[in-house]
Amino acid sequence: MLHSEPHEDSFLAGTIRQKTGVSVQRCYQCGKCSAGCPAASEMDIAPSVVLRHLQLQSSEADKHVLGSYSIWLCLTCHTCIARCPMEVDLPKVMDVLRAESLKHKLVHPKAKDIVSFHRSFLGTIRRFGRLWEMGFVADYKLRTGHLMQDIAVAPVMFEKGKLSLIPQFRKKLVSRIFAARGGNI
Ligand code: SF4
Ligand code: SF4
Repeated sequence: MLHSEPHEDSFLAGTIRQKTGVSVQRCYQCGKCSAGCPAASEMDIAPSVVLRHLQLQSSEADKHVLGSYSIWLCLTCHTCIARCPMEVDLPKVMDVLRAESLKHKLVHPKAKDIVSFHRSFLGTIRRFGRLWEMGFVADYKLRTGHLMQDIAVAPVMFEKGKLSLIPQFRKKLVSRIFAARGGNI
């Protein structure tokens, strides 16, 4: 009996290739990315192991990756790609994985605040065209309920002119970028 190979397009490996041009199959598991990653010690799956899961092309492995904490801890620092002998662009892979994790509602429970941070940050940029720290912090606190977190540093930031009460609007250019993304953040 003949067994057909799994088709990449049905799995995350295919989505990643379509969206970024990165082939996860290029990774030969040397582990240099994981050894140099500054966030690896906090991750539940090391970056090279994320790639190994994706190479397997199975629904279980894909689901495991989308539900991992690691994909939300990636700092996009590019240390991994600088060290990788195969130039596998892990930061781009992580970007796709975060978007897919949100789409399939598989975000790790510990990543809830990180997702709120992304949403508040990008929401502020979308509304005002640039970051307005005061609005961003207020939105983040409302989303997470961490109302008193870091409150002690606010007076110092005011004093140093780092917090403005009124936003500056520079919406035109930024709204074109959001429109191109279909308004999604
Ligand atoms: S450094 Fe590159 S080849 Fe080595 S494990 Fe990481 S991604 Fe794979
Ligand atoms: S880009 Fe992400 S995966 Fe790569 S080294 Fe930095 S934190 Fe780790």
